[in-house]
Order: sequence, then structure tokens, then C-alpha cells
Amino acid sequence: MTGHHAAELEAALRQISEEVFADLLQQDFAARAWLARWFASLPAYLDWQTENEAQGWRYAEAESTFDWQLEGVRLRGRIDRLDVREEEKRVLDYKTQSDQVLRNKLLEPGEDVQLACYAYAHEAADAAFVSIENGKVKLVEPRHDVPQLAQLNAERLVQVMGSIRGGAGLPANGIDQACIYCEMRGVCRKGEW
Ligand code: SF4
Repeated sequence: MTGHHAAELEAALRQISEEVFADLLQQDFAARAWLARWFASLPAYLDWQTENEAQGWRYAEAESTFDWQLEGVRLRGRIDRLDVREEEKRVLDYKTQSDQVLRNKLLEPGEDVQLACYAYAHEAADAAFVSIENGKVKLVEPRHDVPQLAQLNAERLVQVMGSIRGGAGLPANGIDQACIYCEMRGVCRKGEW
């Protein structure tokens, strides 16, 4: 992006966004609201991208799939974006949630498995959410060592899946925000333990 004026970059990204949304807008009226939200974030997104590039990060891939076979577990998915800086790799996951919500997700090491899985699958030493919300764009990174989180997460997956195959019980384990609306509340007896 270096060497281009902000207005030029914004016009180009606006044009690309309109093309990408064109089909969706024919089928889904709500897509117009998403596009409007995205347009409101374009200047902040471009500022954020400029800052990344100033730090040496370069866009490498988007929507790249992965398919890893662990011991008894197959890890499959698709990562929003991969950036590189010489030999370093950083996986990025776009979110339409505030940076505070995302920061809370990452408070407890190991609780968020998504970034850890992505980092593991791409052998990346860095991983982060990109919060795009209310015209603001912010990078939200785990405060803990990402390769270690990724390794421990993979080991836990293998162990948990092994236990389940071995017949371990699965207690109801919904998060409080989900339990409030759940029709199974009471039946699952979460409140009893
Ligand atoms: S109420 Fe029970 S079944 Fe429903 S989400 Fe919560 S823990 Fe899960």
C-alpha cells in the first residue's frame, strides 16, 4: 500500500467490496447492512493495514484451508488470513466483535481454542483476532506464548477425544449466556453441580 494516497486506497477497496457483495445483495437484503458496516470501517481498516506493513508484515494468503491428522483427531478448518514477516507467520481471524469482548475471550490461557488451532495448523508463532466494529479496527493478541498454547491445545484435544472414546461422561457445559435461553435448562441439571 506504500506510495498510494488514502483516498485512492479507500476507493479501490470500496470498489472491490461492492463487487464481492454484488451477488449477496441480490439474495439477502440484510447484506446491505453488513456492507454499510464494513464501509464505515474502511478508513480504520486501511490505517491498521498500513501500520502492519510499517511493522514489516505482509499479506500472504486468505481463506486457506488446513487438514491435520493428530492422534485420533482430524483438525480441519479455514483461516481468514495469514501474514508473513520474513520467516515469521501470523494467523489472523476477523471478528465483528469489540476488542473488549475479544480480549475477554483470551483472558484465560487455553480457553479459546480457535486461535490456538489455527496457529497449530499453520505452524505460526503469532495469532490474533482483528476486531472490526463500529468503525474501529484493532488487533487483539493473546498475552500468552502462542506456540505453547497451540501445542497444549493439540495435546488436550487428543486426550479429551481419547477419553470420550473410552466412555467418559459429558456433563452439560454451556456458557451462562447460552444457558439463559436454553430449552434444556433444568433437564441438563447444570444447576446441580
Ligand atoms: S442449560 Fe444445560 S444444556 Fe442448555 S446450554 Fe446450558 S448447560 Fe447446555
